[in-house]
Amino acid sequence: MQTVVLEEPGRLALREADRPAAGDGQVAVRIRRVGVCGTDFHAVEGVQPFFSYPRVLGHELAGEVDGRPVAVLPYLECGRCQACRRGKPNCCERLSVLGVHQDGGMTEWLTVPADHVLPADGLTLDQVVVVEPLSIGAHAVRRAGIEPGERVLVLGAGPIGLAVTRFAKLAGAEVAVTDVAPARLAFCREWAGADAVLPMDATFPDTVARWAGDRWPTAVFDATGHVGSMNQAPRWTAHGGRVVFVGLVQAALTLDDPLLHQRELTLYASRNATRDDFRRVMDAIAAGAVDADRFISRRAPLGEVPAVLPTWLKDRADLIKAVVEVA
Ligand SMILES: [Zn+2]
Ligand SMILES: [Zn+2]
Repeated sequence: MQTVVLEEPGRLALREADRPAAGDGQVAVRIRRVGVCGTDFHAVEGVQPFFSYPRVLGHELAGEVDGRPVAVLPYLECGRCQACRRGKPNCCERLSVLGVHQDGGMTEWLTVPADHVLPADGLTLDQVVVVEPLSIGAHAVRRAGIEPGERVLVLGAGPIGLAVTRFAKLAGAEVAVTDVAPARLAFCREWAGADAVLPMDATFPDTVARWAGDRWPTAVFDATGHVGSMNQAPRWTAHGGRVVFVGLVQAALTLDDPLLHQRELTLYASRNATRDDFRRVMDAIAAGAVDADRFISRRAPLGEVPAVLPTWLKDRADLIKAVVEVA
């Protein structure tokens, strides 16, 4: 079978590999679609921390088992640590993510633990492949416990910000979104139903104050992964509100403690997603509440990945989601 291997930073190669045999408690999934995200780009660039090579990328997966569509929960938890015992496998102490810490799905067949294969009957493969990135947003919204009528501000309108916006809308919030890229904001208004889009530039403190009036957002989500944006997030948050860091940055944050205290803010980090989030997203797609198809902006067959992925990397700023098709 064909497999794309990231042999070292900047060097992707198409290789022949043996089809894996499913061990005890495992299922062989025929992979059909693989989404590409920031983590993959970082690995190709060689800037993903704690990443080892060679590695088969691919953690956003849609496949088939006995000809029926399935989603794959790519976060393999240990099942024994304190987090796992407390029902938080998404932040397992020894988490191994397919396509990140161990080989993933840029291949034709992948064996995965049977309980990480989720039936997706009724969804198309294109819909299934975006379940993982959408679940990251759905998880963050669930963590914050967004209630109907709340005001929410989302910083960053990339794939994760879009997902946060959509699921905050579905939770009944009024949502404003900011980003440096006007095209992303336009897409966010249209695709996610954002109520307001605010350009992120030097005027932002005034723009957001005008939008807020005397009702500042009770939840602010950072989906930028930019340290400056994260440090400022508490500034835009209502007294008594919460700040949710969805994007990850490899740096120490500098937070203004008097500001946190005066406002009695609650700070959340949000990591990965759970089986429940995947189900929630699949239900929302099936119900027509999330337009998964329009989330995909580029596609290429598996054999062309070594040639095409560097071009996706170059124009990553204008693409929402690139997807690899496996025949
Ligand atoms: Zn991803
Ligand atoms: Zn664990």
